[in-house]
Amino acid sequence: MAVVVGADPVAWSGRWDPGLAGQVAESGDPRCILSVPRENGSETNAFHERTRMQLPVLTPRAAEIEEDPLDLMDEIDVLKKEQDAAILAHFYVDGDLQEIADFTGDSLKLARDATRIPNSTIVFCGVHFMGESAKILSPEKTVLMPDLQAGCSLADSCPADRLAAYQAELRAQGHDFQTVAYINTTAAVKSLCDWIVTSGNAREIIDRVPADKEILFVPDQHLGRYLSSVTGRPMILWAGSCMVHEVFSIQDLLRAKRNHPGSIVMAHPECPANILEISDVVGGTEKMRNYVASIPEKKIFLVATEANMIHPLKKIAPQHEYIPVPGIMTSTGETCACNRCPHMARNTLQKVRDCLKNRSPEIVWQPYFAQAQDVLRRSLLK
Ligand code: SF4
Repeated sequence: MAVVVGADPVAWSGRWDPGLAGQVAESGDPRCILSVPRENGSETNAFHERTRMQLPVLTPRAAEIEEDPLDLMDEIDVLKKEQDAAILAHFYVDGDLQEIADFTGDSLKLARDATRIPNSTIVFCGVHFMGESAKILSPEKTVLMPDLQAGCSLADSCPADRLAAYQAELRAQGHDFQTVAYINTTAAVKSLCDWIVTSGNAREIIDRVPADKEILFVPDQHLGRYLSSVTGRPMILWAGSCMVHEVFSIQDLLRAKRNHPGSIVMAHPECPANILEISDVVGGTEKMRNYVASIPEKKIFLVATEANMIHPLKKIAPQHEYIPVPGIMTSTGETCACNRCPHMARNTLQKVRDCLKNRSPEIVWQPYFAQAQDVLRRSLLK
């Protein structure tokens, strides 16, 4: 049902290698741009300058001096009380951070948690658009981020000025549509949209789009294609994707299934269609947790999403074995989780301690947040 208008829907075919500096590729089509930050920041800064996105300037990651994690946790505990702070951590950050967090969850749950907690300060262990959403939904709170440079390749793939130009082009062509954006977008993009969805509420929100309207879905083409198939609504898809979910290897997954007969494949809908087609369970992180918890007897799960997701799965259903995809790299069954998000990995215990101590970096209110606030509230809180 889904339609990707324009150039090759998979504009970027490069494989992400976290050990390399990064890659940027453009197809020339305004909807097909994918960017991966370089450690030295040069490509990304040029990219953001071109697209006039209001994102932090990347600088080299400072080498951290090793500190005892238990000491850091104690320090964080004291600072949290002093600063009246609560820590929110996404399921994709390191397990240590999830352990010290007051709230863990997916984007939808954390956005809602941010509005409910009584604390005056939030420390958001996640990526930039998540901190932005927390600030937009709770403007009276101070929102600190351990590392303001933790971005998102998916959000980067849809710059606000390119989206505005494409919406104008579609209108000029006579399309009568509403724009539905995945939450993994900048606030500037959200302010151009009618609805915001997460993998947890997408079906419900898409049902709210009037039947006589077309749907422009941004920025994740794989999620859009999946939602189009489950809702039956045709969609015009923006050709963006997530660097982590894009790299799962179908061969590795098939090999893992063969090596583990009877295993259950769980995939995030940000994965490409060929991965979803051979998956037994397709869903966001909360759906994955609920699913494994519903099965009492031991199973083997092959998990196609960010590798840190194994932490909350083990916690809620320790009876199972979890293997990240691609997980089987050798004939001895050794696993290699090379599917970690480098942006989420910028969050560390030291940075949490430092941002509490310095009350910085902080997500500061921007004028265009006001418009994004309307659409976020309508989509996530009502
Ligand atoms: Fe963005 Fe993908 Fe990382 Fe999630 S896993 S923050 S979508 S780059």
